[in-house]
Amino acid sequence: MADIIPADTAATMASETEAQLRLVMDTLPGLIAYVDHDLRYRFANARHSEWFGRPRSDFAGHTVLEVLGEELFSFTRPYLERALAGEKVIYEHTYSYRPDFVRDVQVTYLPDRDSGTEVKGVVIVLEDITARRQAERAQSESERQLSLLVEASGRLLASPDSAEVFQNILDLAKEFIDADAYSVWRRSADGVYWHIATKSGLSDNYSGSLLDPGGTSGKLPRVPLAFEDVEKAPFADLRREAYQAEGIQSLITVPLQIGSELQGTLVFYYRARHRFTELETRVASALGNLASAALGTAEIYAREKELRRTAEAEERKAQFLARAGEVLSSSLNYEQTLAAVVDLAVPAFADWASVDIFGADNELRRVSLKHVDPARIAMGEEFRRRYPPDERDAGTQVMRTGKSILVPEITDEMVIQGARDPEHLRMIRELGLKSIILVPLRANERTFGLLTFVTAESDRRYSETDLVFAEDLGRRAATAVDNARLFTESREAQEALRHSNEELQSANEDLNQFAYSASHDLQEPLRILSIYSQLLHRKYEGQLDEKAREYLDFIVEGAKRMEMLLRDLLAFIQAVNIAPGEAPLVDMSDVVERAIANLRSAIQENQAEISYSGLPKVRIQETHLIQLFQNLIGNAIKYRGKEKPVIYIGAVRNASTWEIRVKDNGIGIAPEYRSQIFGLFKRLHNRDQYPGTGIGLAICQKIIERYGGRIWVESAGGSGSTFCFTLPA
Ligand code: ADP
Repeated sequence: MADIIPADTAATMASETEAQLRLVMDTLPGLIAYVDHDLRYRFANARHSEWFGRPRSDFAGHTVLEVLGEELFSFTRPYLERALAGEKVIYEHTYSYRPDFVRDVQVTYLPDRDSGTEVKGVVIVLEDITARRQAERAQSESERQLSLLVEASGRLLASPDSAEVFQNILDLAKEFIDADAYSVWRRSADGVYWHIATKSGLSDNYSGSLLDPGGTSGKLPRVPLAFEDVEKAPFADLRREAYQAEGIQSLITVPLQIGSELQGTLVFYYRARHRFTELETRVASALGNLASAALGTAEIYAREKELRRTAEAEERKAQFLARAGEVLSSSLNYEQTLAAVVDLAVPAFADWASVDIFGADNELRRVSLKHVDPARIAMGEEFRRRYPPDERDAGTQVMRTGKSILVPEITDEMVIQGARDPEHLRMIRELGLKSIILVPLRANERTFGLLTFVTAESDRRYSETDLVFAEDLGRRAATAVDNARLFTESREAQEALRHSNEELQSANEDLNQFAYSASHDLQEPLRILSIYSQLLHRKYEGQLDEKAREYLDFIVEGAKRMEMLLRDLLAFIQAVNIAPGEAPLVDMSDVVERAIANLRSAIQENQAEISYSGLPKVRIQETHLIQLFQNLIGNAIKYRGKEKPVIYIGAVRNASTWEIRVKDNGIGIAPEYRSQIFGLFKRLHNRDQYPGTGIGLAICQKIIERYGGRIWVESAGGSGSTFCFTLPA
């Protein structure tokens, strides 16, 4: 190409090209230089004076040693020598050109061989890679930090206790971000109230709670918010004084959230103005995410623990109820029963448990008070003795209304309000009551007592479910007590009945004894009366006038009747006194025959016809059965109609009895008298019409009843009667 261009033109062109080349090289962002074989700069572009902070004249014609200085030169020299030996050398290094001008560079040395093999010099190209390096470094530092954070997160997640989680978050934050102070804030469920869960580097005065009635916090973006100037923070108005008191200038706040719910914040404070690097923001954000995860886990854990606790408590209560059920049904002494329930309640359900019963004197009487510590019981009793329940007392209210009371939290204000005097106040405080349930004991619409459950030392608090439980217990206890009362009452009634039966029996025995001896002993004087009146009649008949004879007849008649009465009465008493027990088996037909034989004269007189068939064998004393038939057949003849008496005796077999029927064709009995005639001395006719004492059927009834049977009469009235009785088959 040079051959066809004239020499002077070529020279002009060459100088122009060189000028253009210089311009290009001076505007390059990096350094370009040419160093000769003696390591002396032949050329250095304009950036050299900028980087080194020296005039351009300091480079061309000066040695590399002079330009770089001893330290840099000794580092660079081996590379330069390799280039002078003909090798293309590329390396990266960070050069500190000036104290405040450090550059990451990629250095390239190109050997200048011209056309031959000998190296005449080296072209030096330095590319500024500071920005790239910095980005890479930031990246790797942040990666390193984050991976460290992930490693550390194990610690955070390992202790799922929510109480510890906040402290752990804070500890971790301190490790990764170097701030002057730290805090973890928690937000209440309604979002209105914030308080510090834990803090570090802040004075004790640093206000630990914050109201956010406007709910501003809920609207904050869920990303870390860094404020170089705290005055710019959206909550500055709320916190200004606190920041000033602590000398806080800058802060970064990181949201802690579970799901999408903002649960709290992690805050880093700086007492000097702090410009937040991207790395810090990234690490803070990662910390926030990690802490949120830990919080979530802690919450799940806490919920699980709570569920388990509830389940255990339920289990305990169920066991308690089952035991209470046993106890309640095991004893019929109700005070004992209630005391046993109270015993069981402590400590499964309460620290203190008591039962009171409303006495007849309208006073609540304490039946039982239970606590695990006897010393405390003594204290409780002393308290009760000194301050018996008055109108204002919760127990009195429950008694009045019949409604239970639950106080989940007994506050000191309540205690102060309820105290009657300073000593009362002191004693209540000493008892340390935390929570109370009072349940009425009700039966038949009446409140008769009170169950009280109190927590103290256990620090437990009663809930609505506990109330439901206590009410259930109260109902069971009341039912048990009512059962016990019914039992006692019925036992008392039985006792009274037994007692009056005994009295009746002994009165009966006395009466029997009296009647027996009376009828027996009366027979003797009666016989004398009878004999002497007959003697009188026989011997002095002629000397007596009409009137005297009539009187004498009355006497004889009266004596006969008396004799008859006494005989029947004696028979009745004997029937009453038939001793229960095994009787021999007798053939009823034989018995009827005997009765007929005894009644022979009456039968002949009245021309009575008596027949029977199908009569069974029964277990009865023969004399009793003879007497029975004699009475019934005798009556059938005595109360005959105009026709001659026809009597038939038959038997019917029922399930477990024999029913015997004695049928006559006599005068019959009107329906209204049918039950009366079995009463003692009950007669439907006067003596002139039909003689008799009114004792015969009463004897029959007594005999039949003694052998477990029944006697009654069937009659159509005017057309005969049928006397029926049963005996066990
Ligand atoms: P009494 O000594 O009077 O016969 P009972 O106790 O044997 O006493 O009978 C009570 C009453 O029952 C009799 O007075 C009579 O009026 C009535 N009576 C008993 N048996 C018969 C009968 N077979 N027919 C009608 N009336 C009878």
